[in-house]
Amino acid sequence: MEALSFDGIISTIGNKFGKFDAVCPLCSASRSTAEKRIRKVLRVWREAEDFLTYHCIHCGEKGWLRRGGSSVIDFERIEAARREAEARDLEARSRRTLRARYLWRASLPIQRTPAERYLREVRVS
Ligand SMILES: [Zn+2]
Repeated sequence: MEALSFDGIISTIGNKFGKFDAVCPLCSASRSTAEKRIRKVLRVWREAEDFLTYHCIHCGEKGWLRRGGSSVIDFERIEAARREAEARDLEARSRRTLRARYLWRASLPIQRTPAERYLREVRVS
């Protein structure tokens, strides 16, 4: 069984964009008849220069491949990005809380202000 690689698939479909059907490098060689071994069961979608997705209707293998990289998910990177986002969110919440406290402390009673007059004359019938 041969592993799927971005370059391997590109050499099969040509350096083109779109939707392609190809012989599956994972399962086709082990099929029972010569006709089945050359059947194009691997669907490939390539819409970007360095990225493609695939799905084999025979063995069920599916996923994506990147040029010069593997399709292995880097959980450490995802976790680091999640921690960064949480830190940013916490900082933003802290800033909003400080601003809300400042506005609360700076607030004045409404009596004898233009706001009171507006509410009494315009908004209250
Ligand atoms: Zn397959």
